[in-house]
Amino acid sequence: MSPNSGALAVAGRRGVIRRYFEHLPVTEKTPIVTLDEGDTPLIFSERLSQEVGAGVWLKYEGLNPTGSFKDRGMTLAISKALEEGSKAVVCASTGNTSASAAAYAARAGLICAVLIPEGNVALGKLAQALAHGARVVEIEGNFDHALTLTKEMAQSRPVTLVNSINGFRVEGQKTAAYEVVEALGSAPDLHVMPVGNAGNITAYWRGYREAAAKGWCDFLPRMFGFQAEGANPIVRGHRVEDPRTVATAIRIGNPASWGGAVEAADASKGQIRSVRDKEILEAYRSLAAEGIYVELASAASVAGLRQLASEGLVVPGCRVVCILTGHGLKDPEWALAGAPRPRRVPAAIEPILEHLELA
Ligand SMILES: *Cc1c(COP(=O)(O)O)cnc(C)c1O
Repeated sequence: MSPNSGALAVAGRRGVIRRYFEHLPVTEKTPIVTLDEGDTPLIFSERLSQEVGAGVWLKYEGLNPTGSFKDRGMTLAISKALEEGSKAVVCASTGNTSASAAAYAARAGLICAVLIPEGNVALGKLAQALAHGARVVEIEGNFDHALTLTKEMAQSRPVTLVNSINGFRVEGQKTAAYEVVEALGSAPDLHVMPVGNAGNITAYWRGYREAAAKGWCDFLPRMFGFQAEGANPIVRGHRVEDPRTVATAIRIGNPASWGGAVEAADASKGQIRSVRDKEILEAYRSLAAEGIYVELASAASVAGLRQLASEGLVVPGCRVVCILTGHGLKDPEWALAGAPRPRRVPAAIEPILEHLELA
């Protein structure tokens, strides 16, 4: 399949490889494995803008095909694995990487092997991997152990590792920064996002720098990455052996792209900081109250924005982009946990109105 094969292929969303073909490490020979990822909305938040006194936009990456930004990198990683003749891919995952790898591998006809850490993988994500036919094993260890084991597998067996240490992942993910610049007509002043393994902050920073080099924008944002307080190795300056947070997608004790995160923060005069689980949950609920359903890790960006605002770091009137990395349907138990169960009432108007306080 060539990138521009026929009129039908270019209708609507075409996926990040076709949209940004000349900016990615692909050639006419690369078989494009896509689910039309990318081109996600950049939603203006009236409420957050008023709250922090700046223009706040939310990049809703939960609207990618498997419900997280991971698809941007996976389209490229799987396409390249296929191009290189690989028959199988492997990943370690707290959930979204495996959901995405499983879907794109299925699309490509490749075997997908997944190592998940013991416990704490959101049900929705595991369901996705299984639905797409991935071979899943739960290991007696945490994410960091799982990643080490997949690296060994990729070295000793003919399988391609598709964790974010696969350089094609970061290349694909940088396209989100291009989209932000396209939508705003410039870079934002502040860019705020969650940080787990730090591949994504590395990717955004690369994307913004390239956008500037190509003349699409003439300044770069300050990059602020937020870890959860119980899983904040970069903030502490050393690995965390037993990372803890309700936000499973960022429960990482030893980020694979640690250096990339530090580089993005330092070079952009930003910072890597942490937010408490309580603040993540509050941000999760306030986003939902505005109609935007995200998974907990994503809410770390909005919790982070509030922290920056409370410390006077949000210049009045500046433009801020918060990245909402994944969809709320991934782990709906958090919405249910905070809400009363629907009460059962007789099927008659009066009791219904009374219960709904609309009488
Ligand atoms: C993977 C993921 C993250 C963390 O991204 P990193 O690149 O590991 O820093 C955050 N949120 C969600 C929803 C994710 O799936």
